[in-house]
Amino acid sequence: MNEASSSPGAGTATAAGAEREIAGRLVYFQHPPTPALVRVRLHGPAARQRRAWQALGVCWALMIPALFIPLAHFILVPGLFLAGPILFSLRLRMPVTLLSTRGACPACGAEQTFTEHGRLLSPQPLRCASCRRQITLEVDPAG
Ligand SMILES: [Zn+2]
Repeated sequence: MNEASSSPGAGTATAAGAEREIAGRLVYFQHPPTPALVRVRLHGPAARQRRAWQALGVCWALMIPALFIPLAHFILVPGLFLAGPILFSLRLRMPVTLLSTRGACPACGAEQTFTEHGRLLSPQPLRCASCRRQITLEVDPAG
């Protein structure tokens, strides 16, 4: 069975949320910021609830096999028990998932697609594939 982020089945793109491209900028200390195109997926309230319950279900279901792992179960079982509600509330409050970012590194100028994805942080750290510097993506919270 598939779990976590990879949703099973095809053709669920609309149910999973609308994809949008929003404008952002890449910054690196005193270098002039460069524009970035940020691909995100917006989650409606229903999709957020579904993803939240999914995360809770996966965490708590994993407690059962974790019970049978010697020693590790002392950490795994309470860890998974706590991780369930934590992921649940994170996903419930996560209206936007970062899919990818396209832009030029403000430090070295290399045009690239940044593959960091997941919860969109503000600011969102990104790693340049060319110069390996950690740069920052800033997205306007509006919309
Ligand atoms: Zn760079």
